[in-house]
Amino acid sequence: MSSQSQTRQPHAVLIPQPVQGHITPMLHLAKALHARGFRVTYVNSEYNRRRLLRSRGPGALAGAPGFRFEAVPDGLPESGNDDVTQDIAALCVSTTKHSAEPFRELLVRLNSTPGSPPVSCVIADGVMSFAQRVAEEMGILAVVFWTTSACGFMGYLHFAELIRRGYVPLKDQCDLTNGYLDTSIDWIPGMQGIRLRDVPSFIRTTDPDDVMLNFDGGEAQNARKARGLILNTYDALEQDVVDALRSEFPRVYTVGPLPAFAKAVAGEVGAIGGNLWKEDTRCLRWLDAQQPGSVVYVNFGSITVMSPAHLAEFAWGLASCGRPFLWVIRPDLVSAGEKAMLPDEFAGETKETGVLASWCPQELVLSHPSVGLFLTHCGWNSTLESICAGVPMICWPFFAEQPTNCHYVCDKWGIGMEIDGNVSRTEVARLVREAMEGERGKVMRVNAMMWKEKAKEATEERGSSSKNLERLIEFLLSGSD
Ligand code: UDP
Repeated sequence: MSSQSQTRQPHAVLIPQPVQGHITPMLHLAKALHARGFRVTYVNSEYNRRRLLRSRGPGALAGAPGFRFEAVPDGLPESGNDDVTQDIAALCVSTTKHSAEPFRELLVRLNSTPGSPPVSCVIADGVMSFAQRVAEEMGILAVVFWTTSACGFMGYLHFAELIRRGYVPLKDQCDLTNGYLDTSIDWIPGMQGIRLRDVPSFIRTTDPDDVMLNFDGGEAQNARKARGLILNTYDALEQDVVDALRSEFPRVYTVGPLPAFAKAVAGEVGAIGGNLWKEDTRCLRWLDAQQPGSVVYVNFGSITVMSPAHLAEFAWGLASCGRPFLWVIRPDLVSAGEKAMLPDEFAGETKETGVLASWCPQELVLSHPSVGLFLTHCGWNSTLESICAGVPMICWPFFAEQPTNCHYVCDKWGIGMEIDGNVSRTEVARLVREAMEGERGKVMRVNAMMWKEKAKEATEERGSSSKNLERLIEFLLSGSD
């Protein structure tokens, strides 16, 4: 390194896929880097820039000293409704095609901004590999951040092999229901005991040209070319998979749970938020008035959609489970064209026991002492946040690597129970009772506290994730380890 570059402040540009479950962990990582001396440029999509300004107010993207926001277009046409989760498949295709050149122009501009140190590294979302490519073409060090679980990433990494061995695409739609998905897949390294249904859901297609099958499978292979791979997990949680990944990838940085590092960041940067929906904090006051460990918290994340019939089954299941509940119903939770309408008598029947919100500060909710159970779709951030809070789960996976996470939550970590995809009200009520009052619930609570403690250890000073974060920083600063 020249003496000039030694004295220059390192400048990291971070670009998440423009969806909530990627924005949040990338923001956590950005905060952790800023706290360790990096200048940070955090890149949103134009669409989300507008949403963040709406949900968080005009100061939302003001940043802080040494922490700046930028935006690039995602290439999708303007939609009539500017407040919804965009079509994920369309977004994947579109960002790859339309965001690369604006991203290149942004890097050029940042490199010629007077008073700003040149960009020294790019952290590209694993499913935004164009950003890694652009950085490398410009001679800038780039690493990829897969915001999934390690087991989810390992699943995507084996899409190619599943296709080569003829498991995928499915021969027939009937394979979705005839038991075929129970086929044992015992050859994915570090993932003994899984079935085809535990592999990320994009394999559940009969179309060899399916967009998500090819996109996520391809992006995972691309990670092999990256100089480093960041994962938001901790070693003890996914040891076998992480070990298997380390034997294949030169640099794997397991730095999770990232919320722990972000929480330690105080001041203006600590206060920066990234929620695309406006948070309703009234539910926290309601939680204050509930008994410790008594509340069922229900939230299916930012992308899950369900049918009106499933919504009604959850509603009546919660109404009859005998427990207070906090249920977050996103305005776009119910399948396109339908409104998230609850059954007419529901409000009356649950006015003593239930509270609804459209978006909440989830990490605060999960760590509230009143929350005793999380009914979740098993998005990776939700899963990790639940682990950090020591809260057991009922799992209703929707898509992507959520079935993989669900398998680990229920069968490997012993902190959850799966609910049938075709959910019924009796099953909801039964599983809630079992989790809150039954023997299974007791075991889950003990396990949940154990994984919470291990997560804490990993992010303490000498913990595995703390050490890996320092290793990552060393690599970003010097380009070698
Ligand atoms: N989230 C939140 N409030 C809500 C719903 C979700 O803050 O009402 C956050 C949640 O804490 C998590 C993220 O949104 O960090 C959702 O990511 P996840 O990976 O769980 O699921 P996805 O939305 O990607 O399906």
